[in-house]
Amino acid sequence: MASPSHPTNLHFVLFPLMTQGHLIPMVDMARILAQRGIMVTIITSPVNANRFKSVIDRAIEADLKIQVLELQLPCVEVGLPDGCENFDLLPSNAHAVNMYLAMIMLEEPAEKMLQDLCPPPSCIISDGGFPWTNDVAKKLGVPRVVFYGPGCFAFLCIHIVTNTNILDEIDSESKYFVMPGLPDRIEVTKPQASTWGRGDTKESTKIFERMQEAEKEAIGIVVNSFEELEPKYVKEFAKAKDKNVWCVGPVSLYNTSLQDKAERGNKAAINAKDCLKWLDSKESGSVIYICLGSLSYASTEQAIELGLGLESSNIPFLWVIRHPSEEFEEWLSKDGYEERVKSRGLMVRGWAPQLLILSHQAIGGFVTHCGWNSTLEGISAGIPMVTWPQFAEQFLNERFIINVLKIGVKIGMEVPVIFHELDESKEIVKRDEIKEAIECLMKNDEEGEARRKRSKEFSVMAKRAMEEGGSSQRNMTLMIQAVTEELAKKPTLVQDIV
Ligand code: UDP
Repeated sequence: MASPSHPTNLHFVLFPLMTQGHLIPMVDMARILAQRGIMVTIITSPVNANRFKSVIDRAIEADLKIQVLELQLPCVEVGLPDGCENFDLLPSNAHAVNMYLAMIMLEEPAEKMLQDLCPPPSCIISDGGFPWTNDVAKKLGVPRVVFYGPGCFAFLCIHIVTNTNILDEIDSESKYFVMPGLPDRIEVTKPQASTWGRGDTKESTKIFERMQEAEKEAIGIVVNSFEELEPKYVKEFAKAKDKNVWCVGPVSLYNTSLQDKAERGNKAAINAKDCLKWLDSKESGSVIYICLGSLSYASTEQAIELGLGLESSNIPFLWVIRHPSEEFEEWLSKDGYEERVKSRGLMVRGWAPQLLILSHQAIGGFVTHCGWNSTLEGISAGIPMVTWPQFAEQFLNERFIINVLKIGVKIGMEVPVIFHELDESKEIVKRDEIKEAIECLMKNDEEGEARRKRSKEFSVMAKRAMEEGGSSQRNMTLMIQAVTEELAKKPTLVQDIV
């Protein structure tokens, strides 16, 4: 239903970064905005548009004013394979910079597209990874709101390490230090704290600095989180950035229908009915769900250890394996693994309907790589987590789950891996460590019960935040109001908009 407080001819244009962890929440956000009567245009490339076509088609059928416009990503021109339009399709981690270069080349066609839009755009909400959208917004005379992906806790940590020389003062790669300027005592190692930021190449530093420059002119930062989850960090983050920070999540809760949950993000590798049938056959809270996100790869050796760890724990499991190697498949068949675990284990090769799975009552625990979306989805479902961070800001999210929220058990991952790394020589997490962490999480002892109770409390708060009158709803209204106020400062445009 359109909110009477918003001018009806507002038109928001969204530019999601081409990676699942950013694309998925932006598509949710787009529908939340459209639900308020705002016209929304999502601009992305054909491969990505196709991934959420069914979800958007349903929104259009439900009379939301929403459209997807496609821009060709110049993959081949920058040395990427044709159609490599998402970070999860990159041939190697080294190609990430090429992807950014291709995204930079979208500036001109995007500007042209926006100039021809009818009604004209009244605001751009774009990922931090598209710093040029700031220039486009200026040319069009409309405000820009920036979106990054992580929550306020992690972003405050990132802000601290990228804007002070704290890391220069630390000479050990393995020693834990206390992150300065945080409301809680949080200890991290230097590599864990520096996996997001300037990077270690000239190109990545240039991109990062351009992002920071562009952010200064944005009217605010929209965050997929909710105030009640991290109140001190929302406040400190806004203070550190000297900006409006609007927490409007968890946006995943917008997906209430079975179809939207089942088709979120990509076509699932398992039929929703089969998945639900399997989950229905398990006792409430008895199953552990394992999914390490949309980008991480497990080496064959690591996948085998994980499989054996799950088997030895004797706990029912639903295990998502993104890219099983041929060697791993060979091991599975030779070893007879699937046959041995078939009464209590289900393996999904490829994309899993994560929201559908997490919201099923059979799930009692989540082994996560601590990507922010997965973290928030686990929190929204009221499920405690085994934390297995890999890269980006995931180690910071792990600290948040373990030390701030106290709803998790660490698997014991210490050293970040480069995403996409298939290096067999890397230290792996052993089957006993996996078994121990999972058993500890699923146990019905006092600590386990306390974790479960806290998880449920956060889940209730998350749902309240997204309800009518909840903090995230209120923040969405404030963000829209800030946009209209900004437009009102520009007399020529305001006549068109208000
Ligand atoms: N996801 C999913 N099915 C999968 C893998 C991931 O639905 O098989 C979704 C997950 O629900 C989340 C997003 O993909 O919304 C991953 O984002 P996150 O920030 O957790 O991690 P990333 O993949 O960016 O590392």
